[in-house]
Amino acid sequence: MKIDLHSHSFYSDGVLSPSEVVKLASQAGCELFSLTDHDTTEGSAEAKLEADKLNLSLINGVEISAFWRNMAIHILGLGIDINNDILQTGLEHNQKLRKERAEKIALSLWRSGIKDALEKTQSFSKTDMLTRTHFAQMLISEGYCKDMKAVFRRYLTGKKPGGVGVEWKGFEEVVHWIHAAGGKALIAHPLRYRMTNTKIKKLLIDFKGVLGDGLEVVTGTSTEEEVKLSNQWAKDYNLLASCGSDFHGWPNQRVRIGNLRDLPDPEKAVWRYL
Ligand code: AMP
Ligand code: MN
Ligand code: MN
Ligand code: MN
Repeated sequence: MKIDLHSHSFYSDGVLSPSEVVKLASQAGCELFSLTDHDTTEGSAEAKLEADKLNLSLINGVEISAFWRNMAIHILGLGIDINNDILQTGLEHNQKLRKERAEKIALSLWRSGIKDALEKTQSFSKTDMLTRTHFAQMLISEGYCKDMKAVFRRYLTGKKPGGVGVEWKGFEEVVHWIHAAGGKALIAHPLRYRMTNTKIKKLLIDFKGVLGDGLEVVTGTSTEEEVKLSNQWAKDYNLLASCGSDFHGWPNQRVRIGNLRDLPDPEKAVWRYL
């Protein structure tokens, strides 16, 4: 059974509409799917309409930015009630942080000679919620960098131009928002944070400590070794497992919806517990 529980539409930093994303999932042969935009569920209703048309099972999802030891960690909320007030108040808080950050990023870029960054970046987004990816697209299109990899290396991180830290809420609050909405909370793409083994274990212990539910064991770029390693972490900390491509629909991306390695322990799959 093909399952993909992590993807983005233009309600966050994806390129396609929710219906286009759902259509692709259906064409790829997915039987269970979730749209997980960053800090918003705005695309969920449209995704649901399309999924119903195509007879595809859809789980409501979101990818929430959280803060752990000065790092941004992404927490997936799967099987959420999108009408829950606690969840939506939390997401509104993150959306406000994003707006404030966008202004700070623009100011920081202005200081290094890049003018009108906010206005120019806005034209890359269908909504007023800007992600760093939108700034990245603007910088590429203005000729500052050739691709996403280069732009995140030279801008938008750490002390680079456009690098602005955000103090997102910690694990405890974010997990609470998701649980209040009846969903399961999972750490997304654990290998993308480039942590040492010791550090990732501390992260998982802290996540378990606030009753976090699971780990994204398979992502769109996972190698066999990476799946094995993430699965071992899930086992060690008794976490449920999920799989998702993290599809954004950007050009030159190899990631495809529904094209994922199998979960090593299907009995621990998060969808069995939703
Ligand atoms: P934000 O949530 O606004 O901080 O933006 C984070 C998003 O930027 C991630 O979800 C990725 O889609 C993208 N991103 C972050 N780092 C990189 C990178 N090194 N290369 C490509 N995309 C990245
Ligand atoms: Mn993204
Ligand atoms: Mn992410
Ligand atoms: Mn994602």
